[in-house]
Amino acid sequence: MGGIIVNHSGDVVKGTLEALAASPLGGLVKPGARVSVKPNMVLARPPSEGATTHPEIVEGIIIFLREKGVFDIEIIESAWVGDDTKRVYRVCGFDKLSEKYGARLYDLKDDKIRKVKAGNYTFEICEKALETDFLINVPVLKAHCQTRMTCCLKNLKGCISDREKRNFHAMGLHRPIAYLNAVIKTSFCVIDGICGDLTFEEGGNPVARNMIICGQDPVLLDSYCAGLLGFDAADIDYIGIASDLGVGRLYGSETPVIELNADNKPSAPEPSGLARRLSAHIDGDKACSACYSALISALNRAGRYRGGKICVGQGFRGKSGKLGCGDCASGFENYVKGCPPSAAEIAKWLTDL
Ligand code: SF4
Repeated sequence: MGGIIVNHSGDVVKGTLEALAASPLGGLVKPGARVSVKPNMVLARPPSEGATTHPEIVEGIIIFLREKGVFDIEIIESAWVGDDTKRVYRVCGFDKLSEKYGARLYDLKDDKIRKVKAGNYTFEICEKALETDFLINVPVLKAHCQTRMTCCLKNLKGCISDREKRNFHAMGLHRPIAYLNAVIKTSFCVIDGICGDLTFEEGGNPVARNMIICGQDPVLLDSYCAGLLGFDAADIDYIGIASDLGVGRLYGSETPVIELNADNKPSAPEPSGLARRLSAHIDGDKACSACYSALISALNRAGRYRGGKICVGQGFRGKSGKLGCGDCASGFENYVKGCPPSAAEIAKWLTDL
């Protein structure tokens, strides 16, 4: 499954083309193939804020593919529960990209769903992710409140139904993420390491790194990228589970890494750990990403929170308690309504508390 190409480039389109030219992609994709590109369009924030894929990376991929005789290109994604994928595409500049190159934009929330067995799971997967000839995964390298980091393996969560996304949180995220990668086959990955948020998956704290990273193996890439965020691959459970399932192999000192434009390398930024500190105020049980990260953001905005633990997640359905976040905690004495509530609604609730 090859090695890893890392390009340190401030020019995103050019940097992507350079990275792809140094990779095996040109020999892997067949002229005339139907290629699906899966960016991270988790919510409606521009890529400069650190949560979503830069359209310039996808532009570089499209230019490269067209030069190889591939013109049947579609962009596929489903934003997180509570956001509108079409709005995310607009905010992130993907509608203009689609017009310029004729690449079709699909909102997977409108797609047909197929039930697919993986181990003991039966996943609801969007058909377009299963029917393509060649899937190019284009995640953002960034932190995640619950799984610590998100990159190639977790990005495929955007290829399942909203109901399944909720189920994934109820099932603890790590194992289902790994098993999902055993049934949706990624053909190639191009990682947006331009300015990912090293604190939250929803952005707002971008850290400029100007990296474009690519390769074939999502496990290899994720285990390499864990190190870039200051983790061991063993800290991120789903990476090890995916490796055990044969999705790919783990990064090691023997892995070939080709670095391009190494002179442009910025000094490595440290993750702030802010999300981890704020999560000390939270008792989470099977919480959806949208709910959990909205609560983290609201706590961050609220400054010094001195109240009791706030319960969030599907594990609190039908239960009682004091403070809760989201409709799952509707049995609590005091809770924020919404599924999910917005960070602003939670922040207002915190102020009223
Ligand atoms: S209230 Fe929050 S945790 Fe519960 S289902 Fe809705 S988004 Fe998920």
